[in-house]
Amino acid sequence: MLPSELVTADRKYQIHSLHHPVDEQDALIFTSGHGIRIRDTDNREYIDGLSGLWNVNIGHGRVDMADAVAEQMKTLAYFSGYAGSSTIPSIQLAERLIALAPGMAAIFFTSGGAESNESAFKTARYHWRALGKPGKTKIISRIHGYHGVTLQAMSATGISAYWKMFEPRVPGFLHIPTCYPYRFQAANPSETPGQAAAAELEKAILREGPETVAAFIGEPIHGAGGVIYPTEDYWQQIRAICDRYEVLLIADEIITGFGRTGRWFGLEHWNVTPDILSFAKGVSSGYLPLGGIMITQAIRDVLDSVEPANRWMHGFTNSGHPACCAAALRNIQIIEEENLVDNSRKMGDLLFHALQQTFSDHPNVGDIRGGKGLLAALEFVEDRGTKKNFVIEKDFGNRLRREMRSRGVITRTRSAAGEHPAPGDQVLFAPPLVIQESDIHELVAVTKDAIETV
Ligand code: PLP
Repeated sequence: MLPSELVTADRKYQIHSLHHPVDEQDALIFTSGHGIRIRDTDNREYIDGLSGLWNVNIGHGRVDMADAVAEQMKTLAYFSGYAGSSTIPSIQLAERLIALAPGMAAIFFTSGGAESNESAFKTARYHWRALGKPGKTKIISRIHGYHGVTLQAMSATGISAYWKMFEPRVPGFLHIPTCYPYRFQAANPSETPGQAAAAELEKAILREGPETVAAFIGEPIHGAGGVIYPTEDYWQQIRAICDRYEVLLIADEIITGFGRTGRWFGLEHWNVTPDILSFAKGVSSGYLPLGGIMITQAIRDVLDSVEPANRWMHGFTNSGHPACCAAALRNIQIIEEENLVDNSRKMGDLLFHALQQTFSDHPNVGDIRGGKGLLAALEFVEDRGTKKNFVIEKDFGNRLRREMRSRGVITRTRSAAGEHPAPGDQVLFAPPLVIQESDIHELVAVTKDAIETV
């Protein structure tokens, strides 16, 4: 098939996420990848500035990943984890992951992020019901948070574009403001953005009644909502508030896990242990779909204490899929052997400094976010003094994305269109953890050039 025929067939037969028929100019079909670079049907090469969809942490084209999966498929491609049966890769992976995640004691596997968050919400409910507190069912999450597209995950997501055409949302899901230092306006001048944002959680719990709230969920650093970094004091306060009101803390580490932030997991930066940790993406670097939740021993004990008639009836056909677990085991081995968590930290520092050096005087760059691994963003404004966004009609974000693409960089931009509250235009960076110094300079140079053009 010719590239143009592929595009036509693709548009005719598939529905993609963010589907809209007028976005034809975004049609791109990728055929191969190696390291941080990918190629399309015209054999053009691009830097993958977002690691696929924040997940290809070890980079593209790893033959040893294919070998590990093929080996497992030849031995035992599938068996379920139903009613106590299990498979060797899932056992080995569970043990490996528990050793990597401070404070976690047991794992339940899923096939991706939304399933993981669904499982986290159901686990929170189950846990409180088992403890004789069935009224604790509500989930609090944050504006700009992204947690997936299934009904509960969508309801927890704080980006209105994801739910406004699928309403009503599931009852009992509510959003509070996040810690967004650049956009913070102090109501009380002595408060830091972290204190103010944490106080929003306490206010919401008290307003709803602690006896109705099961859990709070948040990404250690926001991803899709704009790579928003909290202040250093935020997460410890959130942990303390959750403890004060018996609210479980769910860390959505789906982007921030597996080295993305220069640590194995994002909350390690603040020495905070969640009650439930959701993971996906980087656990298998996208070579096969996999996700899951990890829970503390305290939650494990509650699960184990329930009488058989009320046992945990939750599980997916693909929970603990042996081939996916074999991919994850090899992926983790690669991250360790190649010191990719360290490289993420070093290259992340370099990226952040290069962005600061290049853009700190730029009249339209309002905020430069980064400094924890390979997770960075620029936020654009029309006026740095007033922090006024570009008007939606300028379509700055989409134009920037296309300009960057035409210069050989694929990345993600966030733009104001169609959202409430409207975010500013942003460009988000999360390249594979194998990135090297010269690639970082290339990425920043392309970004600069594209911004000037737009
Ligand atoms: N949570 C976060 C923080 C994510 O970034 C994503 C996906 O981008 C999800 C959840 C949902 O994951 P999935 O698309 O695998 O369902």
